[in-house]
Amino acid sequence: MEFEVVIGLEIHAELKTRGKLFTWTANEFGGEPNTRIDVITLGMPGVLPVLNRKAVDYTLAAGLAMNCKINRYSRFDRKHYFYPDLPKGYQISQKDYPLCYDGWIEFDVNGEVRRCRINRIHLEEDAGKSIHAEGRDDVTWVDFNRCGVPLIEIVSEPDLRSPEEAIAYWRAVKEILEYLDVSDCNMEEGSFRCDANISLRPRGSQEFGIRTELKNMNSFRFVQQALEYEVKRQAEILRSGGQVVQETRLFDVERGVTRGMRGKEEASDYRYFPEPDLVPIEIDEEWIERIRRSLPELPRAKRLRFMEQYGLPEQDVIVLTGTRALADYYEAVAQSCGDPKAAANWVMGDLIGFLREAGRSIEDSPVGPEALAEMIRMIQDGTISGRIAKEVLEQMVATGKSATQIVEEKGLRQISDVTQIEAWIDQVIAENPAQVEQYRSGKTKVLGYFVGQVMRLSRGKANPQQVNALLRKKLDQQ
Ligand code: ADP
Ligand code: MG
Repeated sequence: MEFEVVIGLEIHAELKTRGKLFTWTANEFGGEPNTRIDVITLGMPGVLPVLNRKAVDYTLAAGLAMNCKINRYSRFDRKHYFYPDLPKGYQISQKDYPLCYDGWIEFDVNGEVRRCRINRIHLEEDAGKSIHAEGRDDVTWVDFNRCGVPLIEIVSEPDLRSPEEAIAYWRAVKEILEYLDVSDCNMEEGSFRCDANISLRPRGSQEFGIRTELKNMNSFRFVQQALEYEVKRQAEILRSGGQVVQETRLFDVERGVTRGMRGKEEASDYRYFPEPDLVPIEIDEEWIERIRRSLPELPRAKRLRFMEQYGLPEQDVIVLTGTRALADYYEAVAQSCGDPKAAANWVMGDLIGFLREAGRSIEDSPVGPEALAEMIRMIQDGTISGRIAKEVLEQMVATGKSATQIVEEKGLRQISDVTQIEAWIDQVIAENPAQVEQYRSGKTKVLGYFVGQVMRLSRGKANPQQVNALLRKKLDQQ
């Protein structure tokens, strides 16, 4: 029997507000355990939470960017469960009236556009962390610093049809949140993670099969591996006439297998009820419009525009739009130097390379877009050759000086003086009679050798086009 894979993701992203969701204690990663806490974070009896408005703004931004409808009336609910790292004994979340619902995003898989619908985006608080120390199985510590950090949960419809597609969707969501600047989506720090639900059904069937859920994944590679493992495992069960058990499973990274962790809980297990300590949120048109106006151009739209407007190949555009900062940087260079292709090559190639070596990012690049554009213009007007420009750019990154300054200080100006170039050519021809012989007997490939020798004499400064032309003329002459 042939099976169709059905996947739906529940993506969690921590929002990068300054304070926590219901208190002003700093929302920052890490720190000495149990220092970013207060009576609200600890859920002391009698304290009252106060909603962080910025967290609502960020959630609305995510919703609008993902084509969601916004609930004009939204509220929080208590979701009860016991975890050592959830001191209140319940999590403040949203059940019946999430802030955003009924959206979709489009993304590309192997050059094809796919669409995944989004069921809802709701706002809730994160829990703390249990710490199991290495080599000690007699104790578990708990760190409440993460407790109360604002978290959005983006629940997809079961529209994804392969592990690969699920990963592409997950990446697309990450990129959107990064562009919106509402979450740092740091997967290692756990601020961007997902639960993946997966089932199989006979191809052509309309009904969904029984699913399993893979909890708290925070690596693209592991989710892909875990999903692929589940596809095989479930297919075997179904082929042998068995039934998949609906349960939560964990991925064992070392062995590359998933393992049953616990039976699936139902909504009723959580005994949800409306959070009595918070008023419902009413969202008016003006609030929505304010957020809508603040949305940046989104990654996919930017890619399509870059291809169209700058005539760049898709592969380049994917690199250049990897982050909003990089895309803005590229665009400023392209517009200032007037050559989008050259701008793309310098930004993607040498600039990123030199920055990486210097341990810097595009945001704190010592070479601003205007400075790079100036360097490209110096190539265009023949002041320096492309080869020398590489050296100049390296110096620019190292010192923060402008291209003009470096070229003047180091005397790197390109030499286009015919008499000077001819003198170097004559010297090279005189010193290499054997190669001259080869060239004249028809092995014209040695021209490259001559060019190299002349460039060496000029210490890279001779105009390479001129060297080429003059060399040919001299060698062909006699
Ligand atoms: P819960 O909140 O209990 O985890 P939901 O019904 O809200 O359950 O669904 C959670 C996620 O599971 C959603 O992303 C949804 O798309 C996905 N999902 C639901 N049914 C299936 C299924 N049969 N196969 C794969 N994914 C599914
Ligand atoms: Mg779930």
